[in-house]
Amino acid sequence: MHVFYFSKKKIKKFFALFLIIVGIFLLLYQFLGNYQMIPAFTYNDNRFLNKTIVIDPGHGGIDVGVIDSKGLMEKDINFKIAKFLKKLLEESGANCIITRDKDTDLSYLSNQGKTRQLQDLNARVNLINQSQADFFVSIHVNSFPKDHRIKGPMVFYYPQSKSSKNLAEVIQNRLNIEYNNIYKEEQYNKAKGESFYILKNTDCPGVIVEVGFMSNEEDYKLLNKAKFKNFIAYQIYIALGEYLQQ
Ligand SMILES: [Zn+2]
Repeated sequence: MHVFYFSKKKIKKFFALFLIIVGIFLLLYQFLGNYQMIPAFTYNDNRFLNKTIVIDPGHGGIDVGVIDSKGLMEKDINFKIAKFLKKLLEESGANCIITRDKDTDLSYLSNQGKTRQLQDLNARVNLINQSQADFFVSIHVNSFPKDHRIKGPMVFYYPQSKSSKNLAEVIQNRLNIEYNNIYKEEQYNKAKGESFYILKNTDCPGVIVEVGFMSNEEDYKLLNKAKFKNFIAYQIYIALGEYLQQ
């Protein structure tokens, strides 16, 4: 009979190695933040089946949106979140339409409106209405340079649309929980009713998700990270699943 025998020296060595590995893991975890850990969970029921969802990454092309002195642009943050969200939704069976698939503004698609910005927004409204979507999600980044302390996600809906309000609150709640985990503090923004052009002129329910404040240092650092953008997309995806299940 063969008996496995570990000398005391070997046990010590194994133990030291084990401690080093645990140490490295803890360090990485601290360094990277818990948003790195995107759970492998995706909805495997049919809640997204036959659902048409429009994802609208705000701005694009010459319209960069909010920008900081180091050149981080809102349009790129919006686009990356939107692309990953689209991927997750399609993997779950949704028919997902993205309003722009490249770095361009959409004013060339509409001649309605006096300014390029209005034409761009009008083009987005037309795309959403033509798609006969079940709902849409517009992705943006906030900024409030007057008060750098203001931070966190904010979701907007058209006040006269009950479904939009419901959708907004589900997303806002989910993001609040996840952001607070990262901030390690309790701070709650509320979903807000606003008559923004895209909310007012679309036929289906829809929301604008402002994923954070470029003017806040903490949000800025997060929004700069690729993994965090995927994390936001993932949390919006989870919230959309919750909304459809109600
Ligand atoms: Zn924006």
